[in-house]
Amino acid sequence: MPRATKQPQDDLNVDQALRPSIWDEYVGQEKIKENLHIIIEAAKKRNESMDHILFCGQAGLGKTTLALLVAKEMGAQVKITSGPALEKSGDMAAILTNLDAGDILFIDEAHRINRTIEEILYPAMESRTLHLMVGKGPSARSLNLELPPFTLIAATTRENLLSNPLRSRFGATFRLEYYNLDDIKKIVERNAKILGIDTEPESLEVIAKAARATPRVANRLLKRARDYAEVNDRNKIDKESAEQALALLEIDHLGLEPHDRKLLEAIIYKFNGGPVGLNTLAASLSEDRGVIEDIYEPYLMKLGFIQRTSTGRVVLPIAYEHLGLKRPGELL
Ligand code: ADP
Repeated sequence: MPRATKQPQDDLNVDQALRPSIWDEYVGQEKIKENLHIIIEAAKKRNESMDHILFCGQAGLGKTTLALLVAKEMGAQVKITSGPALEKSGDMAAILTNLDAGDILFIDEAHRINRTIEEILYPAMESRTLHLMVGKGPSARSLNLELPPFTLIAATTRENLLSNPLRSRFGATFRLEYYNLDDIKKIVERNAKILGIDTEPESLEVIAKAARATPRVANRLLKRARDYAEVNDRNKIDKESAEQALALLEIDHLGLEPHDRKLLEAIIYKFNGGPVGLNTLAASLSEDRGVIEDIYEPYLMKLGFIQRTSTGRVVLPIAYEHLGLKRPGELL
């Protein structure tokens, strides 16, 4: 594989270098890209700001990257913040009053915006107005400020935690899906070139399979496989070094990490394979239920390893097979 000329220096630069900066580099999510192009073109033709957009999907699937690509295509300046960073109403008001015409405001983790702050956003999104209360007590009065035309792009990993009034104010909502193996392989291959690493096709396959169908994970594994190969004086990532790097990280060939196995084994051994309620499971693992729901479960459900039922979580047969365990009925 030819070596690329771009040679980023440290991990942060590497992450920046790996983020697609043109649409052609953004692999997959075809329907979403198609729809975005139409929205962008239409807004450009009318010489208007785009409608507000919501991106939903697991961490690392490319929501921020999409927002940046949209901004670039619109020729817009982008201001970035996140739900947890907005502590007071004043924080939101300050950001909104600092927007210039045509700007894109990107709010990550939008499900963590608190309700008082959300209420400032509603009129800002709907009629470009900022309602401010000035003063306190009987002398308090409300002030309405007109805002420049802007587009809010929000991203969330938990669409169900967004309030209805906020959700309904977006002109379009896009749900990012997990990537298929071919797309993840393309991403790993392209990124290996950017990093100037030689790879064997089999090693790309090993890394892609363990990447949890998620580009950010693919990037992380590629970097660790590169470290492993370099430390072991190999001039390229071959199948063996990719596998050994994963083994060292305790990641199996499907991308399961120790916490995934702990979760599956807890349901299997402590709750006879389930069903077990989320709270009980969280307590038994001393883990936050949000972390289980947000981070651990989605990929296990994608693999068909667990199922959420009305009575709780159940481990499915292929998970037993993968772990090399017998199902409850087969234990004798
Ligand atoms: P999110 O905002 O959903 O958490 P990001 O947009 O930050 O995810 O994506 C993380 C990284 O994964 C990006 O920097 C980029 O390197 C890679 N990535 C994400 N989506 C894609 C894609 N569709 N094609 C290529 N690389 C991608």
